[in-house]
Amino acid sequence: MASNKNLLMLPGDGVGPEVMHEVKRLIDWMARRRHVSFNISEDLVGGAAIDARGTPISKDTVAAAKAADAVLFGSVGGPQWDRLGFDMRPEISILTLRRELGLFANLRPAIVLEPLVSASTLKPDVVRGLDLMIVREATGGIYFGEPRGIETLPDGQQRGFNTESYTTHEIERVARVAFDLARKRQNRVCSVEKANVMESGLLWRQVVTALREREYPDVGLSHMYADNCAMQLVRNPRQFDVIVTGNLFGDLLSDLASMLTGSLGMLPSATLGAVDASGRRHALYEPIHGSAPDIAGKGLANPLAQILSFAMLLRFSFDMNEDATMIERACTNVLASGLRTADVMAAGCAKVGTQVMGEAVIREMEKLAT
Ligand code: NAD
Repeated sequence: MASNKNLLMLPGDGVGPEVMHEVKRLIDWMARRRHVSFNISEDLVGGAAIDARGTPISKDTVAAAKAADAVLFGSVGGPQWDRLGFDMRPEISILTLRRELGLFANLRPAIVLEPLVSASTLKPDVVRGLDLMIVREATGGIYFGEPRGIETLPDGQQRGFNTESYTTHEIERVARVAFDLARKRQNRVCSVEKANVMESGLLWRQVVTALREREYPDVGLSHMYADNCAMQLVRNPRQFDVIVTGNLFGDLLSDLASMLTGSLGMLPSATLGAVDASGRRHALYEPIHGSAPDIAGKGLANPLAQILSFAMLLRFSFDMNEDATMIERACTNVLASGLRTADVMAAGCAKVGTQVMGEAVIREMEKLAT
């Protein structure tokens, strides 16, 4: 079947190929039952690419990612590559892709599915029904700002320093992603910085406010200091719809928010680039978990984060909302039926492995399709 949807799969290492396999089976089902197809190519990244080609990501792979409409990434890394120098580590592959594809907006949903409400360390009353989206700026801020370094002072002490810096352009483009997303959700954005103590935060607040007045007057906007936001996320996370923030605060707050849901094996993410003149945008989708070397090769990994990353890909890169919603619903139904991988196991449920979980999702899709 011919397709104009070019999808590059990069399974990576550890559990990456195992959970990606379940997405492939889902795609086969979609081709048969929903008559949708993709031009799929696959390549090595991370440790697998180091072993085969001596580099965590080859130039050809980067070119293939640039040519694709969307990239579905698994996970990379493992103890066998830990002794390599920083430039040769498997994790360089994902940093390279973010840089080369200009992926500046990291989207992390934190959704508490009803069957997993007790998996959170927070009380069910606090997290039940949670559905928030954190938009983190991913290519600027203090992780990339110059000057940076470690210097030796005249008195022999050392000084480590980094620079937090944001330009109007960097703030506007990530805020646009947040406002656009909010319009498709509950229409509320909370912008997070430390404008009380940081000039970059003050500029962030001014630019987001001006952008909203100019282009998004219909979207609700509030501002919050990052420390208060951390507290509010634990106190009453349901007050948020879309949070937009810089790289450093986003790193911390998105990890915090993911744990509200209680399970790493369930969480997808997307990283988006700018829309170009032809309306095309680079995008990469991946579960937030790593390669889980402790369970790799045992068929125990939860494939749902990878499957839900694919659902995000359908929604954001291919505008296939109906299929995305169907996949999300199928995952919820499987959990509600009592099937669980070990990471989300609960009393009274049946423990299953990666493949059985993947098959159960397809069975639910079959039910939803009829
Ligand atoms: P991890 O996410 O791989 O594992 C943390 C814990 O969660 C482990 O106990 C693991 O078994 C469990 N877990 C993770 N995914 C799971 C799944 N799908 N189903 C069930 N359980 C799951 O984090 P880590 O142990 O800190 O890192 C392992 C390796 O992964 C390291 O080399 C690290 O650098 C790499 N890593 C890669 C990425 C990425 O590819 N984007 C992200 C994080 C870590």
